[in-house]
Amino acid sequence: MKKYKNIVVGCGLAGAVMANKLANELNETVLVVDRKNHLAGTCYDYKNEYGITVHKYGPHIFRTNSKEIWQFLSQYTQWYPFMHKVLGVVDGIEIPIPFNLNSLRKVFPTQLANTLENKLIQTFGFNKKIPILELRRTEDKDLQFLAEYIYNKVFLGYTLKQWDYTPEQLDPSVTGSVPVYISRDDRYFQEKYQAIPRLGYTKMFENMLNHPLIEVKLETDFLNIKETVAWERLIYTGPIEEFFGYKYGKLPYRSLDIKIETFDTDKFQNAPVVNYPENYDFTRIAEYKYFLNEKSDKTTLSFEYPENFEVGKNDRIYPILNEANQAIYNRYAADAQKMPNTYFIGRLGAYRYYDMNRTIANAFETFNIIKNKR
Ligand SMILES: Cc1cc2nc3c(=O)[nH]c(=O)nc-3n(C[C@H](O)[C@H](O)[C@H](O)COP(=O)(O)OP(=O)(O)OC[C@H]3O[C@@H](n4cnc5c(N)ncnc54)[C@H](O)[C@@H]3O)c2cc1C
Repeated sequence: MKKYKNIVVGCGLAGAVMANKLANELNETVLVVDRKNHLAGTCYDYKNEYGITVHKYGPHIFRTNSKEIWQFLSQYTQWYPFMHKVLGVVDGIEIPIPFNLNSLRKVFPTQLANTLENKLIQTFGFNKKIPILELRRTEDKDLQFLAEYIYNKVFLGYTLKQWDYTPEQLDPSVTGSVPVYISRDDRYFQEKYQAIPRLGYTKMFENMLNHPLIEVKLETDFLNIKETVAWERLIYTGPIEEFFGYKYGKLPYRSLDIKIETFDTDKFQNAPVVNYPENYDFTRIAEYKYFLNEKSDKTTLSFEYPENFEVGKNDRIYPILNEANQAIYNRYAADAQKMPNTYFIGRLGAYRYYDMNRTIANAFETFNIIKNKR
């Protein structure tokens, strides 16, 4: 039986960062396995025949406030500075998302917009982010009217499509992650560093894993090879419930059916991502040429149709966070804690919606624990 110092399961962001640090900083050998036929997990991208870089699993914009994380990735890619903007079609009008003071002026007549803007600023202050569920609790009649408008037109339809639940049925962090923003800042994110890898995410992963101590095996499911290999340390970035044979039950996820289509036109929409809370069955359309300012006489789009996750049918995308599911996860996590030299990390190991920044922070934290144990 072949023995490895480290086996890292999953070649997504969590696995790639861990493998990189184990090899570079601890000088240890690492076998990385992934059951997919490509690197980069959910961040995977490729350049299509029209010269447009497409994000296979949906649009990815990197952002962080951490200089450490920014500098770490910057060793493996040059960046295309990119401040993301999202529009939403509400009553047939394109408005900035998250809903902000500019959105307000687009949907309401000037006098009403003035009243609502003044009341928002007086009640909550300027440059404040207010979760929609909090805005709905306000006692002022005008702000109640505004809150109902935003709730019904921007949140309700989108949330029902995305989750098949109303905002109230979900953990408050879900709707809280896209708050109402009392500001004129139309950007989707406010982090200090925001960018897309100039040569794509997949190239950045290739560079991160290009180390003589790192061996990568694709199309290799750890669950199928685990009886044939031995290891001193296991880093598992796959689904924690699958590792434990679902002994406490399944952990529910939403999935996405992403349809990628190329249209014979130079430009399709007015922003890289346009949300459709009210119309259609898809939630949003991404137009990929925006992300690296790529020139082509065609344009490639993705349409996202949310659906339930089913083993064998589609991928686990968004964990459905509520008390019952968290309780199931906690039982798996307690078992995981008892396993020596085994670490469950990443979005599937932790059953969390982690953006890239949080995924890397999670890998860094785990790496530091390993390093300090030696
Ligand atoms: C639609 C969408 C849009 C997103 N947009 C953004 C964004 O704009 N900005 C941002 O910061 N973040 C974004 N994210 C989040 C980002 O994708 C994640 O933070 C990141 O990809 C998580 O990396 P990971 O390694 O934890 O998981 P993954 O990328 O899922 O990697 C896990 C890997 O493990 C492999 N695996 C699982 N089980 C096994 C097994 N038994 N054997 C072998 N291999 C296995 C899987 O095949 C997979 O490749 C987005 C996510 C989605 C879904």
